[in-house]
Amino acid sequence: MLKEMNIELPILPTTVIGSYPRPKWLRHMIRLYKAGRIDEKTLQESFDDAVIAVVKEQEDAGIDIPSDGEMRRDEMVEYFAQRIKGFRFYGPVRVWGNNFFNKPAVVDKLVYEKPIVIDEYMFLRKVSRRPVVKVTITGPYTIADWSFNEYYSSKQELVYELAKIINREILELEKAGAKFVQVDEPALTTHPEEMEWAVEAVNEVTKGVNIKLGIHVCYSNYEILSKYFDKLNFSQFALEFANRSFRDLHILKRLGDKEIGFGVVDVHSRRIETPEEVAQAIRKVMEIVDVERIYINPDCGLKLLPREIAKAKMEVMVRGVNIIREELRRKGVEKIIMRR
Ligand SMILES: [Zn+2]
Repeated sequence: MLKEMNIELPILPTTVIGSYPRPKWLRHMIRLYKAGRIDEKTLQESFDDAVIAVVKEQEDAGIDIPSDGEMRRDEMVEYFAQRIKGFRFYGPVRVWGNNFFNKPAVVDKLVYEKPIVIDEYMFLRKVSRRPVVKVTITGPYTIADWSFNEYYSSKQELVYELAKIINREILELEKAGAKFVQVDEPALTTHPEEMEWAVEAVNEVTKGVNIKLGIHVCYSNYEILSKYFDKLNFSQFALEFANRSFRDLHILKRLGDKEIGFGVVDVHSRRIETPEEVAQAIRKVMEIVDVERIYINPDCGLKLLPREIAKAKMEVMVRGVNIIREELRRKGVEKIIMRR
């Protein structure tokens, strides 16, 4: 059973998955830094300023639970591998087409040396005017799946070791005051034969944690994932549905008392949805899931979209939510209590 937290949110709280397009000027500053033309301090100041800008953009759009847009992270696996002792990088490998990924290798016993994203959280907390912000962490299964394992005797052992490290990081975040952490596991269903132990291992990150934990799994086989809704020790599943034209909603019957982070705008398309399309999708999901268990988000991180389209998608999302909120307000339903 989910437990109530002492936090009130508007009904159908709106949030983002995490990443947001980096402002053009920030990309320019990163290039200057790599060329040795600005110092570390100036780069950090640029990251801070970018976070201020994108948090404001999210809040102006009406997002209830903003993120820092992952401004400081080049890539979701690399960022964590660079900050856990025991990884090394051999250089970029080709993943698809002409896209390269700086694939990390585990070459030694993994050690949690120091907090990874606590500073990110502290800065976001200082900048945001909202009662709750979202911190995202790449999950242990995805980090392992996208890395070379040259040290542990099995992938399973590696995922467990990573899970213990991520667990320590989440406990640190809780200590620092974070209320909502989302673990990103896009790779979770990619090897169905590993699901049984993968779910157990991923649960390791939740041990002893008393704040809200969500898990984001995208462009994945939800038939497989939904069999584990109950077993996965997370209160919320943030899933992508716009990209699949809101098919597969039936899998949400397996949610039990857990929550859905319902993806209503497609981040793989530049077409901007209409508020009515968003409202219509929410009406559909409300036929399956109680409204108090629905959060609204884009399908996935907005990072790869042009910034003005990302912004427009958030605005449309909130306008769609507001159509439904108005209908609910007439029935006296306006708030929910956040649960973990
Ligand atoms: Zn995603």
